[in-house]
Amino acid sequence: MPVLINFKICDNCEDCNGLRVCPTGAFYWDSEKKTIAYDKSKCIGCGACGHCCSNDAIFYTDSEEEANEIQKEIDEDPRTIADLFVERYGAMPVSEQYTFETSEEKVKNRINSNRPVIIEFNTNENINCLLKSIPITEIVKVFAKNATYSKFMINENEYEKYDVSETPCLKFYNQGKFLGEIKGYYTLEEFDQLESFINKINKL
Ligand code: SF4
Ligand code: SF4
Repeated sequence: MPVLINFKICDNCEDCNGLRVCPTGAFYWDSEKKTIAYDKSKCIGCGACGHCCSNDAIFYTDSEEEANEIQKEIDEDPRTIADLFVERYGAMPVSEQYTFETSEEKVKNRINSNRPVIIEFNTNENINCLLKSIPITEIVKVFAKNATYSKFMINENEYEKYDVSETPCLKFYNQGKFLGEIKGYYTLEEFDQLESFINKINKL
């Protein structure tokens, strides 16, 4: 009854859905090693964990042969967790289009640039599993292909200063003009469909 985890596309956090659905603790959080882990001796083969990760990072199979094939696919998977962060979370300053801003001044300069701009205001407390993430590249595509997306981390006591009532908060601008905002995370269904994001952005 093997359970396999593709750590290349898993952000390996304590907020993992697998921990919630496993009825026996076979899928568990190893607090010493700070990792999700699997204890085969406790696994009853219910398969629940295999359906709970929408990143498709957890696989359940009752066949050793299939497990070997899955392991081969995981080994050959060219993706990395860094790719996933950029694609789904925008957390890495990898390009001039997707950036991390580190000061109020830089955020202001970004907003006043001559391009459409999205600023994500967020707090460190909000960073959990990537399943609770924002499909940034899709949002940029819908808003404006040449838009920049910047993440700016704030503290809860700075909400008022940046006119943020809840995080994450995505604020949209064009040439310095504020267009509107989207607040909060979205459900997994919405994340998959992206439709609500698109509708909201198109109404801005
Ligand atoms: S739910 Fe999150 S932490 Fe759990 S396997 Fe999927 S990506 Fe990893
Ligand atoms: S198959 Fe069931 S018992 Fe085994 S790790 Fe997954 S959720 Fe837990």
